[in-house]
Amino acid sequence: MHNHVDGPGRTQRFKERLEILRDSALHHQVRAHLSARRWTRRQWIHASLFTTIGVMVATIVPGFSTVTQVPAAEPYAVLSLDLPELSSTRQAGVVGDSWQIVKVKSGQTLSSLFKDLGIPKETLQRILENADAKTALAKKLKPGTELAFDLPVAGGLRSLRYDRDADHRVELTLDGDKLKERVVARETTTRTVVLSGKVGRSLNRSARKAGLTAANINSMTDEIFKYDIDFNSDLDADDRFSVVVEQTWREGELVSTSPVQAATFTVDGKLYSGFRYARPGDKPEYFTAQGRPLKKTFIRMPIPYARLSSRFGARKHPILGKMRMHKGVDYAASTGTPIMAAGDSRVQFVGRQNGYGNVVILDHGRGYTTLYGHMSRFGKIRAGQRIAQGTVIGYVGSTGMATGPHLHYEFRVNGVHRNPLSITMPPPEPLAGAQLASFRTYTANALARIRTVENIIYADVDQAPAPAQKTAMATALTTRKR
Ligand SMILES: [Zn+2]
Repeated sequence: MHNHVDGPGRTQRFKERLEILRDSALHHQVRAHLSARRWTRRQWIHASLFTTIGVMVATIVPGFSTVTQVPAAEPYAVLSLDLPELSSTRQAGVVGDSWQIVKVKSGQTLSSLFKDLGIPKETLQRILENADAKTALAKKLKPGTELAFDLPVAGGLRSLRYDRDADHRVELTLDGDKLKERVVARETTTRTVVLSGKVGRSLNRSARKAGLTAANINSMTDEIFKYDIDFNSDLDADDRFSVVVEQTWREGELVSTSPVQAATFTVDGKLYSGFRYARPGDKPEYFTAQGRPLKKTFIRMPIPYARLSSRFGARKHPILGKMRMHKGVDYAASTGTPIMAAGDSRVQFVGRQNGYGNVVILDHGRGYTTLYGHMSRFGKIRAGQRIAQGTVIGYVGSTGMATGPHLHYEFRVNGVHRNPLSITMPPPEPLAGAQLASFRTYTANALARIRTVENIIYADVDQAPAPAQKTAMATALTTRKR
């Protein structure tokens, strides 16, 4: 249900992207302020306000959860958007704010919670007649969940608000014998931010502190910079990283962080960079600033943690006992070790062949094919399928003519067997033409953002910081101080 992204919402998002610089400078400050998450009265009001600018139509499916499947015939109700204002007390002629926010404690049930608030049992029963409420409140109520009760001075419960899921807030209002339900989409905003830090004592710790997720850090070390930087020995405390990501926020809470869009790493004064980009019809991958893919066309070893047990070339065959050309290389590994596709490819063959046993042949285009033999079983692949480099195609075994569990790996160029350990692998195709032009515009933009942020954080770190930049600088100072 993401159709609530309408015109005004998009305009707002666009504006927010223009505010990158400010966002990044304020980032730490914002986080410090908002990390303690509470539904303040202001946030509740905002939640209502956002509905008027953000949501045009909300559809209700009673019993939204999978627990209580709703028959397809169940009608959808289309709601008008405005929530009653929080000050519904005023309409009732009662002075004061009657909303009370309750955080569910461990061991607390809905009925004990109602009892504590002095709400009659009958009211609870009436609320639980609503299937949606029953699922969200009675079945899935977890400690830490926040509920808001509208409790007028005159007594009883007027309304109850809760979050049905990450994207929807529900308000139930008791109106005589009737229970009115309103569903409001919860506004999220996405901002592009630059997260930057110095390596310090631990890259991992500094990166987490800067706001990167574990996945972001992995893609920095295992995808983007793994060919240029040796993370075990190259780094100094003073080296620094800057990463562009998109953060999604909801009501002052960071709910998700996108994959790394662009990243730079400055090691001993030398700048390395990588940029996420998708060729039309392809998955996104990382490129150098010049538009060359960072990923190699073939990985050297299609199997993790294995020992090279037999090389390419003439040898005495272990089973046949006569001199024979070994057309591939063997990797000894225990049965069940996963085998990966050496490169992006189309599955040419999956099945059994005489000496090879269970074998997979992959076609990588441009005349390159690879073969993987003696598998104990296959991965979830079928002939004709396109698969990405690193896809698990099968598992080590000793099917066919094999003395023990190992992977027999062949590399062919235009049908001729080549030694995968010594052949010069073909370079991946760089971006060209219109793609390269659009890529360059994007990288220039991302680099400019990074540079601006780095100038704020690092360049004049010894000068008296301007108030707005104080926190970002403070972070730079603390990472520097050791
Ligand atoms: Zn072999």
